[in-house]
Amino acid sequence: MFTLKNTQDEHDHSKCVHKALEQAKVLCEKQGARLTRLRRQILELVWQSHKPLGAYTLMDMLADNSDRKRVAPPTVYRSLDFLLEQGLIHKVHSLNAYMGCSHPTQKDSEALFICGTCGHTEEIRSNSIQQAINLAASQHRFTVNQQILEVVGLCNQCKGKR
Ligand SMILES: [Zn+2]
Ligand SMILES: [Zn+2]
Repeated sequence: MFTLKNTQDEHDHSKCVHKALEQAKVLCEKQGARLTRLRRQILELVWQSHKPLGAYTLMDMLADNSDRKRVAPPTVYRSLDFLLEQGLIHKVHSLNAYMGCSHPTQKDSEALFICGTCGHTEEIRSNSIQQAINLAASQHRFTVNQQILEVVGLCNQCKGKR
């Protein structure tokens, strides 16, 4: 069993951002990866909310937020790739967008529950989902290289507004 924790209700999101940036620093140091100023800025922007953001939105935000000149798309994509490789962000494939990973040190499986109305996306970790995938894969003699688990629906918050 797992429960969907609703992080939308009044929570101090600056704590989420602070924690994510601290974790990123520690993790990159440990992995010998360089968290450059740009990479850190992008991570911070991705973490602005619990809603995934597209690469072009991030580029616009970068341009608004800094005195530097506009960062070219390939540079932004390289930074996003770096953050993905380090496990600091998730790519949300169904939205073609990115979101911060709340537990970058744990590598076990997770599913994303995406609200189709407000875009709020929650990471769900569930052993039972993983076990079901492992079982199905072995029954079909299939080797899993990548898992993309995205579930679209209506979040609790939006349900309340109906
Ligand atoms: Zn938060
Ligand atoms: Zn919603």
